[in-house]
Amino acid sequence: MNEEIYKNFGIDSELLALAGEVEKEVEPIFKEIEKTCEFNSLKVLQAFQHLHISDMHFNSTTGYGYGDIGRDTCEKVFAEVLKAEDALVRGQFISGTHALTVALFAFLRPGDTLLSITGKPYDTLDEVIGITENPSSLKSYGVNFEKIDLIENEFDKEAIKTRLQQGKVKLIEIQRSKGYSTRKSITIEKVKDIIAFIRNFDKEVIIMIDNCYCEFVGTMEPLEVGADVIVGSLIKNLGGGIAPNGAYIAGRQDLVNLAAERLTAPGEGKEVGPSLGITKSILQGLFMAPSVVASSVKTAVFASRLLERLGYEVEPKYNEPRADIVQNINFRDKEKLIKYCQGIQMGSPVDSNSIPEPWDMPGYTDQVIMAAGAFTQGSSIELSCDGPIRPPYTAFMQGGLTYEYGKFGVLKAVQNIM
Ligand SMILES: *Cc1c(COP(=O)(O)O)cnc(C)c1O
Repeated sequence: MNEEIYKNFGIDSELLALAGEVEKEVEPIFKEIEKTCEFNSLKVLQAFQHLHISDMHFNSTTGYGYGDIGRDTCEKVFAEVLKAEDALVRGQFISGTHALTVALFAFLRPGDTLLSITGKPYDTLDEVIGITENPSSLKSYGVNFEKIDLIENEFDKEAIKTRLQQGKVKLIEIQRSKGYSTRKSITIEKVKDIIAFIRNFDKEVIIMIDNCYCEFVGTMEPLEVGADVIVGSLIKNLGGGIAPNGAYIAGRQDLVNLAAERLTAPGEGKEVGPSLGITKSILQGLFMAPSVVASSVKTAVFASRLLERLGYEVEPKYNEPRADIVQNINFRDKEKLIKYCQGIQMGSPVDSNSIPEPWDMPGYTDQVIMAAGAFTQGSSIELSCDGPIRPPYTAFMQGGLTYEYGKFGVLKAVQNIM
């Protein structure tokens, strides 16, 4: 029955047979993912019940957004789930980049030093920090930037220690997911270990985590292991594919307040910001997120093993621990990378008949190809795949609202490179 419908979609029987073998191999991994999903689902449900979420919280405000009880309670739900003192969860955040920008501008002052200990941060922060000149960058306000690279996927503890002993650092940024690099993503255990290490030398430095793509992949979030503040996007994991936009900043009360006063205005902070009808979607997205993240991780695990079986280099391998939802596949061939991304697009529910091509994206040095047939523009908790056109021609694939759709997208993409 299923073979027939796959055939109608142009998936041949050898590939289906291989997919069947792969699904047997990944079964124990899927069981683990389901356990994590169960735990995180109950964690979310507990917060909903504890905060007495009811119909009235789905109401909305306009204008200034004073007294928006839905918005305020939704932020309390996020805070409870993430084990934060407080959270700022707003549609007024355009993206993860915007939330990271607001956080950095909120916490840093002229003369302060921002130190990244996971190497160069995510590409879109280049102009925010001033790594690429921009008259509105942190650098233009006199904020210094320093970085310490990872060494073979591990924190360079010696360099971190030396730097902290040399003089004041105001904020340390740890980016867990790999962005467009080929390093490994950073597990919660590693976050815990490095925070404990940092605290030996500096009790005050603000430790901020770029948590994009990592929420609910495991059972613990960074605030539980000592981070001061975490930032993420709602068109990634925590939006569950339902939030129409937005991002969050969660953690220490004083830091969340500073961020709120930067997002809105000093003196207004969290009190303003109309929810414009999206609170229900944000809450429903959070409710679905454990399960959607699980589907994304399963899709990544399936793709990892399938492409490995077909002879490609993959990172992480299907049975390696995962910190995020991203799967790298090194094609070592430009055409294959392009074909794979185009296949992902063909397998999508939206714009399945458009064909993505590499293009010169603002903020990137190489051309980039991006496949995303998503309900929400730019949403990468929905199955999506992109790759900078440079050796080793790596595809960065992530998302999958359900495993069935994710699996199909992967099969379509693989068929397209065969
Ligand atoms: C996606 C991402 C961002 C930026 O988020 P946008 O919502 O795309 O602006 C920042 N850091 C990491 C690690 C990401 O994966």
